[in-house]
Amino acid sequence: MNISLLLEMAAEAAPDRFGLVCDGKRWTYNDLLAAARGACELIKKTKVEYVALLDESSEAAVIALFGAALAGVPYCPLNYRLADTDLAALLQRLTPALAVGDRERVVRIAGDQEHTVLTREAFVAEARELAPGQEDREYYCGEGIAVQLFTSGTTATPKAAILRHANLLGYILGSVEFASADEDDAALIVVPPYHIAGISALMSSIYAGRRMVMLPAFSPEDWLALVREERVTNAFVVPTMLNRIVAEMHKAPGAEVSSLRAIAYGGGKMPLEVIQKALALFPHTHFTNAYGLTETSSTISLLGPDDHRLAAQSEDPKIRARLTSLGQPLPSVEIEIRNESGKRLGPGEHGEIYVRGDQVSGEYRETSALVEGGWFPTRDAGYMDEDGYLFLSGRADDVIVRGGENISPGEIEDVLLTHPAISDACACAIASAEWGEAVGVAVVVRAGHATPSDGEVRALVRARLRSSRVPERIAVVAELPYNDMGKLLRREVKQVLLTGTLCE
Ligand code: ATP
Repeated sequence: MNISLLLEMAAEAAPDRFGLVCDGKRWTYNDLLAAARGACELIKKTKVEYVALLDESSEAAVIALFGAALAGVPYCPLNYRLADTDLAALLQRLTPALAVGDRERVVRIAGDQEHTVLTREAFVAEARELAPGQEDREYYCGEGIAVQLFTSGTTATPKAAILRHANLLGYILGSVEFASADEDDAALIVVPPYHIAGISALMSSIYAGRRMVMLPAFSPEDWLALVREERVTNAFVVPTMLNRIVAEMHKAPGAEVSSLRAIAYGGGKMPLEVIQKALALFPHTHFTNAYGLTETSSTISLLGPDDHRLAAQSEDPKIRARLTSLGQPLPSVEIEIRNESGKRLGPGEHGEIYVRGDQVSGEYRETSALVEGGWFPTRDAGYMDEDGYLFLSGRADDVIVRGGENISPGEIEDVLLTHPAISDACACAIASAEWGEAVGVAVVVRAGHATPSDGEVRALVRARLRSSRVPERIAVVAELPYNDMGKLLRREVKQVLLTGTLCE
């Protein structure tokens, strides 16, 4: 099995349908397949061991993904937004590679390394030229590595996660409903190519036969304009993007979004306030919260449209709370919660989320994180309620251990966010002579509101949670640091707590 099957099936079913719109250019599924086959020839000719993309979303991302798959070489999209030195260090781990990107930058970065360097334009042009005739085809059909992705590095140095063809196809075939899209269906792709969500968005759109509309750099204005111009039907966004789209729609009401049938979101925690506003602004759109990791080839649990609707309308606090959950595991995976000694926990008990299934790789370049029975410990902390809904309380590594008591930052943040003057909050461990670790929080004050006093913030937490959760240190910051996938960078917040402005 090879992921290129997805593109071959789409081109077979609808060869002349537009499969991609990018930068004003339109590509049929046949064009994309021909270019991917040409890219395969190019990759084989250069005798490289990796195909590295150092570029934003474009046709090159699609052609490189499937060209590399056909050639049996891992495709490695890199975070082009990193500083040159960090990018060079990642590329060094992929020697020798066919490195595709912006000419000046890719040469600067790859210059003194042993790579074959091509600009995006040259790569696409050569791939189109080399597209072989039917009779010359000879492709890789093995079960090897399809994609190697560096994780975001939110918690540590980026790890090189390996995804095999079988993992990615396991995800697509096991969890994406075969939608057999209408000719006019269009998916707006705004997540960068170096993130698993960017790759799974490409694969699931192609599987359904949708037209992919690429937006390389997100802005709410451009996103809304493309939805209108291309009559976009499906989209995936990270929480910070949805937040900005909602703000833009409030600022400039009347945006034409009636074509949008479905919006999926994920990659980080969605603030309750944002999803509630979005549900009101897009009354006819189906919303889905998708939870997953790089190591699991994307989504492993979903909160679907029916649950969103029910939770938003229900008076029952248990049902309402589902809007903050990660939904239920996909039918193709198993999820369980375990304690520190690996014992399986029951409903409502807090522990670490474990998962297994065909789509779960859990492998890195040099090691595997899988434990007995093929289970993957996600390092996410959470619990499952008695109805099988999964709740995330944060990263296992972010848990604050105060005098032996485990405190999840999420519970404190949720309480802080109920204060009308607090628009964003982060809790993390600070060193404490008495307790080993104690709670520190950084808060962002909503525009136009007075800064709440230290005492007021503490009283709010004390009224809702146990006294061990009351913050010892409170910093007020202009904004919290997020990476471009909308993930809160807690390591940086800890730094802020050491040096930031203190209340009172
Ligand atoms: P690193 O492992 O290097 O720290 P990373 O974990 O940020 O990087 P990813 O695989 O991109 O790398 O992120 C997966 C994590 O993102 C999950 O473990 C979870 O904490 C978070 N996440 C993903 N989807 C959701 C979601 N729908 N809601 C809340 N958090 C989510």
